[in-house]
Amino acid sequence: MFNLILFGPPGSGKGTQSEKIIEKYKLKHLSTGDLLRSEIAAQTPLGLEAKNFMDKGQLVPDEVVIGMISSSLDANSGVAGFLFDGFPRTTAQAEALDKLLKLKGTSISVMLALEVSETELVQRLLNRGKTSGRSDDTNETVIRARIQEYETKTAAVASYYEDFDKVVKIKGEGTIEEIFSNLCSEIDARLS
Ligand code: ADP
Repeated sequence: MFNLILFGPPGSGKGTQSEKIIEKYKLKHLSTGDLLRSEIAAQTPLGLEAKNFMDKGQLVPDEVVIGMISSSLDANSGVAGFLFDGFPRTTAQAEALDKLLKLKGTSISVMLALEVSETELVQRLLNRGKTSGRSDDTNETVIRARIQEYETKTAAVASYYEDFDKVVKIKGEGTIEEIFSNLCSEIDARLS
């Protein structure tokens, strides 16, 4: 299996690039943000709990997202690989993911980390908020809180995978096609 983590701060383009990558490489897309928004839309107890955190720009508790990913892995056996988008976001999530994958006889192949400056991130998120229908994208305070969460809790996830030599940094500014092509080069180098 080929299991990829697409990493980066909120607004770095993970969602956009994920769509292109899964189409080209036929990977199963697991976005915790999308999974959580589906739970909210379906008004499940999990969704209702998660919403309180998401509305404030805070991370949802680890056990909630880990449980969700565990179910998704079980529900998708037999795929060519997974693309994790927005997960893992804490070191505890990374450790849990490694264990879950090990139980399935597989592991993370590579983490591709998109790098974008903070001013550009805020601009992109506010722009996205005009059309995305996502309430967490319209309020600058919530956006800054999400970037703060990224810096204090999520950035460490890259160090975790660096210890295993699995991180490749990719410039996340430029055209969508340029960034996609740089991502594909790294994926191709590891698939061959
Ligand atoms: P973005 O990357 O633009 O912040 P996401 O859709 O990935 O958007 O996430 C939206 C929100 O969902 C986050 O701000 C957070 O509250 C919650 N969330 C998503 N993934 C996780 C995760 N792995 N752990 C904890 N919370 C998460």
